[in-house]
Formats: sequence, C-alpha cells, structure tokens
Amino acid sequence: MDIRIQKVSKAFDRFPALHDVSLSIRSGELIALLGPSGSGKTTLLRLIAGLEALDAGRIHFGDTDASHLSVQERNVGFVFQHYALFKHMSVLDNIGFGLAVRPWRTRPSGAEIHRRAEALLELIQLPGLGHRFPAQLSGGQRQRIALARALAIEPRVLLLDEPFGALDAKVRKDLRRWLRELHDETGHTTVFVTHDQEEAMELADRVVVMSNGRIEQIGTADEIYDSPASPFVFSFIGASNALKVTIEYGRIHHAGQPLALPKGDAAVPDGPAKLYLRPHDLRLTDDGAGAIRGIVTGTRRTSGTRLLEIEVGPQRERLEVEVPVSATIAARETVTLRPERWQLYSDA
Ligand code: ADP
Ligand code: MG
Repeated sequence: MDIRIQKVSKAFDRFPALHDVSLSIRSGELIALLGPSGSGKTTLLRLIAGLEALDAGRIHFGDTDASHLSVQERNVGFVFQHYALFKHMSVLDNIGFGLAVRPWRTRPSGAEIHRRAEALLELIQLPGLGHRFPAQLSGGQRQRIALARALAIEPRVLLLDEPFGALDAKVRKDLRRWLRELHDETGHTTVFVTHDQEEAMELADRVVVMSNGRIEQIGTADEIYDSPASPFVFSFIGASNALKVTIEYGRIHHAGQPLALPKGDAAVPDGPAKLYLRPHDLRLTDDGAGAIRGIVTGTRRTSGTRLLEIEVGPQRERLEVEVPVSATIAARETVTLRPERWQLYSDA
C-alpha cells in the first residue's frame, strides 16, 4: 500500500506542529522519520493513522483518499515506545486482541485467532512464550510481542513510534537488525519514528529528516550523509564542525586567508558562508599552504579513535578532528589540517 501525503499542516492551539509536509511512501518501503524531539514526527505518524484530524492537505492510501477515514477504516498497525501490553492477558491473548474485539461479522473463530497468534509468535522468533504474562518478559521481548499484536490485524500500514526507545543500547541494536529482517520477510509498508540517526540510517530504505514541523530532506542513508541539504541535516546526521568563511571571487577564505579548496559545484554566492566538516574528514598535513592552521587544546580517547580539540583562527573557532589512536600529539602543539570532504552553505 503506497501512501501519499500532500501539503499536510497541523497546529495545536495555533502552534504549528507540522507545516506543509509532502511525502510519498512506496508500497513495501521502510521509511524512517528522523528528527529531534518536538520536530513533528509523532504528529505526522498520528495523522497517517487517523488519530489526529488534518488542518490542511490530503493523505492517500493507494488510490483511496484516506484524509477523513477513521483509524479502523485505515486499518493500520501501531507500536509505541510505551504501548504497554495488557498485564492481565497472556502473550497469546495480547497478540490476538485486535482480532478478538472485531465485530462478530468479521471476527475469526477463537481457534483461528489462536492459530494466527501462534504463527505470529513463530514469526517474531518467540515460540513457546504464548502462555507467559507480560511481567515475565524482558523489555525487548515485550516490544516484539507488541509488534506481533500490531501485525495480527493484517494492517495495510505499520506505524512504529520510537518502539525501541526505552530499551538499552545492545537490545536496541539487536532489535533493529531483527526488524529489518522481519520487514524484508513480510514486506509491510512501514513508517518508523526515531530521534536516533544511527537507527534511522541502518534500518530504513529512506530517511525523512524533520525539524520544526518541516521536512528538511528525504533520501537514502548515503544521500543524506554525503549530500546533506542544509546545515541542520549535516549536524544532525553525524559529528560536525562549522567554520565561518567568506567566498570571494568564488574562492573560500578563512580568517582572511584563501583555503586550497575548490568551491565545487555548490551554488554558494560570494559573501559570508559556513564550511561544514566532519571530524574524520580532516587530515593532519605538513604542507601548510592553503590549509587550516590551529592549536591543539585537548585530546580525548573514544573507542576506536582519538579526538583532537583544535582552536583555529583569531576567533578561536573550535574544531574536532579524528586521528588514529596511535597518533602522538601533545596539547599546545600547532597543527595544519586539510579537509578531504566538506560542505559549503551560504550564510547570507
Ligand atoms: P516529536 O514526535 O518529533 O517529538 P511531536 O509531533 O510530538 O514531536 O510534537 C510536535 C510539536 O507539537 C511539539 O512542539 C509538541 O509540543 C506539539 N504537540 C504535539 N501534540 C500536541 C498536543 N496534543 N497538544 C499541543 N501541542 C502538541
Ligand atoms: Mg514523538
């Protein structure tokens, strides 16, 4: 089921939570909505589900205009971060719940509901746990059960709102891989909300980066990482440094000195601009011509690398640079840096 979201807006008490959002989701695609807290991810998900009414715009499910359909009519499956399972019900009853509460005309028989719930337990790789109660399960197991419950109604669309948000890092990572495999097996059109860029990039076919109720960029992990459309996307997607530069006659200058960097095809006019750099895209060099000169003010060890904190220019702008763990560089040392990759954005 493909979903077309066209020029959707939503305000709460005049506060614009979503502004003119358009997005086409392909049938069978796994899309991640990625953005900081308050950027409108949950609101967009609830609008797709029919849990909130649109102020403007339309939402199509396939050829059907679903803009004003009820939650039931849209037939979506949900999992939320804290969508607690029913404590007093066994795992099997939890999974079968959505079927058991259907009007009798469309309700499968008790035996059929049981059979389907057992099959879903197999699918989520928890066979044999059907008679346990939620309190007897780990957090990760509970979220897998919640997913099985969402799948039981055979939804046209699966909506997941930070489903792994409350779990610890290791379990999150395992479930991420598990969900991707499950998705490849079942092929549901899936919208996954997260504020974790690593989770979004690892899991999704395409990532929708959101900020302040707007879509900043839609693209594959490679596209948003390698060609971020805005400074916001650049800094949200990974570690970043920004330097104030000026473009003069098409050349990049920093602190009055020209940098030996081609401006590339970035359509940045002469005037103030920002040069964005990732810590691992800066190399220490002996050749000072046109390079960035700075003073090391500190070093930090992270798991696989060492990070240098460097001050550059008369304004003492701070850069972080990733170097091999074996690098022996002392504080107060003067270094020169050459960017291997960068992005330039107009600052006008
Ligand atoms: P996210 O899921 O990205 O954290 P939300 O969609 O929950 O963001 O919220 C977007 C904005 O809309 C936030 O500023 C939030 O405070 C506001 N908002 C969301 N739901 C409501 C509501 N029911 N009433 C008032 N404001 C809301
Ligand atoms: Mg949210």
